[in-house]
Amino acid sequence: SETRRSRITKAETTCNFCAVGCRFDLYGRDGEVLGVRPADPEATPANDFSTCVKGKFGYDFANSDDRLEHPLIKEDGEFREASWDEALDRIHAELSGIQEEHGQHSVAVTSSSKCTNEENFLNQKFARQVLGTPNVDNCARLCHSSTVTALKQVLGYGAMSNRINEDIGETDCYLITGSNTTESHPVLATRIKQNVRDGADLFVFDPRKVGIAEHADQYSRPNPGTDIAWINGLIRYIVEHDLHAEEFIEERTKHFDELVEKVDPFTPEKVEELTGVPEEELVNAAQTIGEADTCIFGWAMGMTQHAHGTRNLLALTNLALVTGNLGKPRAGVSPFRGQNNVQGGGGDMGPAPHNLPGYQDPTDEEVARKFEAEWGERPPEEVGLRLPEQFEEMKEGNIRGMFIMGENPVLSEPDIRDAEESIGELDFLAVQDIFLTETAEFADVVLPAASGAEKLGTQTNTERRIQMVRPAIEPPGEAKRDLDILMELAERWGYDWRSKYDGPADVMDEIARLVPIYGGVSYDRLEEMPDGIQWPCEDEDDPGTPYLYEDEFNFEDGKARFVPADYAGPVELPDEEFPLMLSTGRVLYHWHTGTMTRRVEALMEQVPESFVTIHPEMAEELGVVDGEYVKVTSRRGDITVKANVEDQSDPGVVFIPMHFVHGAVNELTQHELDPDSYIPEFKVTSVKVEPVGPN
Ligand code: SF4
Repeated sequence: SETRRSRITKAETTCNFCAVGCRFDLYGRDGEVLGVRPADPEATPANDFSTCVKGKFGYDFANSDDRLEHPLIKEDGEFREASWDEALDRIHAELSGIQEEHGQHSVAVTSSSKCTNEENFLNQKFARQVLGTPNVDNCARLCHSSTVTALKQVLGYGAMSNRINEDIGETDCYLITGSNTTESHPVLATRIKQNVRDGADLFVFDPRKVGIAEHADQYSRPNPGTDIAWINGLIRYIVEHDLHAEEFIEERTKHFDELVEKVDPFTPEKVEELTGVPEEELVNAAQTIGEADTCIFGWAMGMTQHAHGTRNLLALTNLALVTGNLGKPRAGVSPFRGQNNVQGGGGDMGPAPHNLPGYQDPTDEEVARKFEAEWGERPPEEVGLRLPEQFEEMKEGNIRGMFIMGENPVLSEPDIRDAEESIGELDFLAVQDIFLTETAEFADVVLPAASGAEKLGTQTNTERRIQMVRPAIEPPGEAKRDLDILMELAERWGYDWRSKYDGPADVMDEIARLVPIYGGVSYDRLEEMPDGIQWPCEDEDDPGTPYLYEDEFNFEDGKARFVPADYAGPVELPDEEFPLMLSTGRVLYHWHTGTMTRRVEALMEQVPESFVTIHPEMAEELGVVDGEYVKVTSRRGDITVKANVEDQSDPGVVFIPMHFVHGAVNELTQHELDPDSYIPEFKVTSVKVEPVGPN
């Protein structure tokens, strides 16, 4: 008979938490994940042997007792188990009924950056082809949509230009801003720390003195929301002192004069006045960055989640161009993307209302014809509703039905009481997930899905590297893989995807036919290339592109465009009633809305509940005691959380992590959107803090 040992399975796979894309061997037995071991170093381009605490211990979520194992249908306010047939028929009947009565675009679809490329591709195809609506979006709207918008305008591709190991790990200089790298991207932070120990210069600009700042040559603390000013100030100083890359600018860029004019007012004195960054710190950073042979510009949501997020990133990309830090090794622009597959599933696969897979324009005749030839019909041409707009339109009665795959907007949207109200207005909601999330509680039908430990597919990490995900165990109970669910769902509308796709490899073949940057990607090649393929990879002879823009930028004329950024500060400023500025973010031991990590004992032991950090001086002024509870109130609502008295930020700035249901920080955050990317201003909210005592 089989022994316990012989039933152990091993999967060479890619981490399901952050977008560093660490690879390791995942072990399972009898439907249970056993643990993680380092993989063959040839197959681990981003991480060698390392993993962080989430990669190592976080997979316990897959074993959780409260995994969804059966479809559920809500009746009289209560969920009951249902068969797959009944659940899928119900979704078909409800969504088509809504469309018949209220029009094609009265429904919306959300895809998931936790899912594979193939699943996200089919998700947007389900929206566009099966439902005939461009109303499809995903959580990248809330994290790096401003990054993608800005990078595409200036450089042509909305992605990191360089590699993790060979470029970020080997550069001469760093400017890191708005990224709590040590907690959010731990393995990547280790690379940076090693390189700084070996002599690279590190400048950190951040309102909070985050972990990576402890390793910096210089840490500067701008006031929240004032980033355009200090970045424009750096550009001005660099140009004024002839530290800019003159030849590079001349040969490879356009509109430099407009940039020089725009940054002119940002003298070191003016920058200090606007941002609080002392003149000498600005000058020192400008001098070193300007003189460095190579520099990496790294950022995360501290830069993106602002009402002027796109302009923040235009400014930073302008700086990278001015200093000639693009199109060469050990240099580049490095958005540290959040979820495991947000680059691929949230971006490249096109589950977005304004572009088709591969960032292709739905109104381009040639593109539309290509999709028509593959799908048998044209995808909708018009721009659909972005996620925050979808929530607005639910209240207006214009969005009445929704299908959500693997997302939890009831916790992740800003001003969640308002988001709950919107979602409560829907005539019908179907949610596909691995747990009964806060969003699934609102659903009429819930479909049990497979976790990343249970599926085959690809993910694309933050350095554009397409890597395999493989199953170590089977999904629990009747749960199914998202790809299978989408195929069965499409069948209800008469689309025979089952005979079209034998599995994810066939979906990737279709992606390769339709998406030029994935043109040479196939499962056969990925099996032969254990370190994955970095896009663009145009055909099967193309080895992929380690760093972008070596010869030209991604425009017809091959030139990058400077897009000068006008200064704008935060929208909601502190006042007498709400005198403090609140920022939100992550901690090492948790992940996003916490649906996975809040179910892992080893992680909950470290950070069991939400908290607010308060500077000791402010704590004293308000009578707040470390470890006791406080009420934090904004114009939207209030929450009660534990006080963590510490001096990471200025006395006027407090911080609350985003991972918890009790003390959910998004009860406080605001609706204000960046007009270019529609990303909400999560990073600056005015609040007041009042002590409530020990319990
Ligand atoms: Fe996973 Fe990111 Fe940690 Fe690597 S750094 S193990 S990808 S969570």
